[in-house]
Order: sequence, then structure tokens, then C-alpha cells
Amino acid sequence: MSVGGSLDQQWARVSGRLKDEVGETAYRSWLKPLTVSELKGGEVRITVPTRFMRDWVLTHYADRIRALWSGENPRVQSVDIVVAPSRLDVGTSANDDMGMAGDLSAPIPSDEVEEERPTSGAQLGLDGRDEHFAHLDPRFTFENFVVGKPNELAHAAARRVTDAATVTFNPLFLYGGVGLGKTHLMHAIAWQIRKKDPNRRVLYLSAEKFMYQFIRALRFKDTMAFKEQFRSVDVLMIDDVQFISGKDSTQEEFFHTFNALVDQNRQVVISADKSPSDLEGMEERLRSRLGWGLVADIHPTTYELRLGILQAKAESMNVQINSKVLEFLAHKITSNVRELEGALNRIVAHAELVGRAITLESTQEVLHDLLRANDRRVTIDEIQKKVAEHYNIRLADMHSARRARAVARPRQVAMYLAKQLTARSLPEIGRKFGGRDHTTVMHAVRKVEELKTSDQSFAEDVELLRRMLEG
Ligand code: ADP
Ligand code: MG
Repeated sequence: MSVGGSLDQQWARVSGRLKDEVGETAYRSWLKPLTVSELKGGEVRITVPTRFMRDWVLTHYADRIRALWSGENPRVQSVDIVVAPSRLDVGTSANDDMGMAGDLSAPIPSDEVEEERPTSGAQLGLDGRDEHFAHLDPRFTFENFVVGKPNELAHAAARRVTDAATVTFNPLFLYGGVGLGKTHLMHAIAWQIRKKDPNRRVLYLSAEKFMYQFIRALRFKDTMAFKEQFRSVDVLMIDDVQFISGKDSTQEEFFHTFNALVDQNRQVVISADKSPSDLEGMEERLRSRLGWGLVADIHPTTYELRLGILQAKAESMNVQINSKVLEFLAHKITSNVRELEGALNRIVAHAELVGRAITLESTQEVLHDLLRANDRRVTIDEIQKKVAEHYNIRLADMHSARRARAVARPRQVAMYLAKQLTARSLPEIGRKFGGRDHTTVMHAVRKVEELKTSDQSFAEDVELLRRMLEG
């Protein structure tokens, strides 16, 4: 197995790739300040200077860091983000374990964002258009996008946006689960317009970046300049708007920007992980406004689409892979396209490294962890039921606010198993346990891991439950 270099070297590669993905600004703000402290029992521990950053990094980057890292070093199973102990944690309360989520509408503590004055258009790349394109992934083009039933509407709509002549629907709202091609389509729109009609001004940015810019403008009392940046845009694309949920002032600003552009008949393209009506924490008028145009849903992949994507990727990587292997992967890795690509990259990298051909056996061996994760089809409901039965507590206590140890501990075990056995994210798991915060889930996971090492019979219990659920 390839375990490339020291922990620091691995992190350098992981963060390098992340930088390419998220762009220079986000990288500098959120990722550069991270330091890697250790790798223990498959968990990489990363320290951040402040609590606010920890929450941010956790919700926005932790999953990606884990995925990239396990690509670098298959021993890495999880990533933990902790606040560096030497720092004073201003504003902490008894709520410590819950880890308050960062409030973005509050003034930003000065150690969290670099002191850097906004210099109008330049940050968004409007003055230097090439700079803007430098943040877009050159592989995310229409040519490289494989069309199938699950994404054909979204794809057709995205193509339509690149016709300068008409604005048929406004906004175009693309939604679907992670790794299904939303960002790819948006970048493809930008590349295509640049090719067809370089005078049309396209602006793509993540909701996160929009928010970041806006908060910075507020801070420097420079919102005029912020607004001006958008005036000359023909096509505005904002990716992952679910991140704007709950941030009132940013939502307000987004709403105004959005209305102004639509009024001028400029095209707006939005992506999110949910439909407009399901966007929680989004103001009603904004939600309904977002649904006015065309809402195109990208469905989970089908076997045919997955196979098509694998064939296209193998071809673009210029490698010959036995069709049995591709079929096997298309059958087994059903979660999303990103994982599918990751799997292909891993088997190709492995084959090159050891200098042997890719076979079904080597594929199974190299991807055993991934394949296992995709095999598991346990639901959180099943986990809660089994765990409640096992500890003889009421199922309702999985969701209740009761904190008595007799129910709190089983609940933590269930959260731990949910994290281990399902592909659900921490926030999703939290929601299934009576709307708890993701940090509570993280705390539970850590607590159970701790107990497992210190208490043999507890460890056996958890192991037994796991086997029952998997088997
Ligand atoms: P999302 O933004 O929906 O989370 P991305 O657009 O980042 O997903 O896609 C994840 C990865 O999968 C990217 O590398 C992208 O190129 C690839 N991908 C997704 N859908 C397709 C497709 N239909 N054809 C080719 N590649 C795809
Ligand atoms: Mg995306």
C-alpha cells in the first residue's frame, strides 16, 4: 500500500489539492492556518487556532480532507479538528461540549480573517478575467460531462444558459446530493460562454465566498464596492447556496443582488443540495423566489451512467481497463460520482506504483475499505432501534433531550454507529437524533472511542452491536 512520506508531506499534498479546489482566497482564510498534529488509530488530528474556524472547517472541509487523505494514505479513516489548546478561548461557556456554531453575522474576531482591505472588483476577478478563470477547474467542461437519465434535464438547462440570445428561465436552480455534478455543470457554463462569447461577463462563486466577501465588506463598511462588483455581470452563478441559510444579513444581500440582476434580465444560476422549498433556514420570500425559474434536479446515478462515466474517465486518463473491472466498480460504488472517480484514480495509481495490471482481485484489494462502506446499507433508524433494544431504553429516548446517563450513553453509541456504518454526515446524524448539533455527534463519537479503549466490556458490546447491524 502506498503511504507517501511523513504526515506533513501528506498534508502538503492534501492541502495543495484542496487549494486547487477551493481557490486561493478560501484556502488562505480557512485552510492555511491548519496544522496537522498526529495520526492515531486511523484518525488524523488537525488543530486550528480558533473555535469559530474549527466549526467552519468541520462543516465545509472535513469530509473533503478525509477523502483526499485516504486517497493519499489508505490508513486514514477519519479526521478530527480540534482547537489548539494554547489559545485562549474567548466567549466559551458551560456549553463547551456542544461547541457553539460560529455566528457569521457577528463581527469577526480579528485573528480569524486577515486584515486586508477589499479592493473592489479585483477580488472577484472581474478586473482580471483570467484570474477568475484560474479558479475554475479546467476538467469541468461540457465535453467531459457524461449525460444520462439522472442529469439530462440539468445538463440541457445548463447548455441553454450558454446561448446568449435568450434568458428563458431565471434563475436556473440546480440541485442534487453531493458529488453528482452541480459544480461541474456550473464551471462548464463558464468555460462554454468564454469560448462562444468572450464579451459576456460570467461570474462564478461559491456561496461561501460570496458570504466571505460580503462580511468583509461589512466589516470595512464598504458594501457599495461589494454591490458594484455584480452590476456588470451577465451571468452570475452561486454554488452551494445552502450555506447561506441562517445567515440573515447575507441572505438579505443575496436577495437584493439576485433581484437586481433578474430585473435587468441577467442570467442567474444557483446550486444547492436541496430543492428551494426544502432549504431550511432560508427566508420564505427568498425560497419562493428561487423556485420561480427552472428547478432542475440531478438524481442519484444509475448503473448505466456510472459505467459511462468510468469509461469516459479511463479514456481521458489514457488507461486500458478491463470492462469487467469497470462493471464491477459501477455496481459497487453507488454513492456518488466523486467517490467513483476517487476509486478509479486509486486503482490506476496503485497499478502504476506496483507495476502490475489492474485485475478484479487487485481492485477488490485496493478498494476494500471503500467497497465495504458502499456495501453497508444500514439506516440510522435501524441503528437506533437495535441500540435501544439492546440497552433496554425507549426508542423515543434516541430523540429526547434527556441527559441521564442511562439514556445518554446508548444514544452516544447509536450516534457512533451511525457515523461508522452509514455515509451520513455529522449534521445529518445530529438531525436524526432530535435535531442535535453536529458537534454533539462528534463528541459522542469521540467519547465512545475513548470508552472502547478503557472499558473492555463496553468495547465488546459495541462490537456486538456493529456485527448485528452489519450482518
Ligand atoms: P457536486 O458539485 O454536485 O458536489 P461535482 O460537480 O463536484 O459535484 O462532481 C464531483 C466529481 O464528479 C467531479 O470530479 C465531476 O467532474 C465528476 N462528475 C459528476 N458528474 C459527472 C458526469 N455526469 N460526467 C463526468 N463527471 C462527472
Ligand atoms: Mg459542488
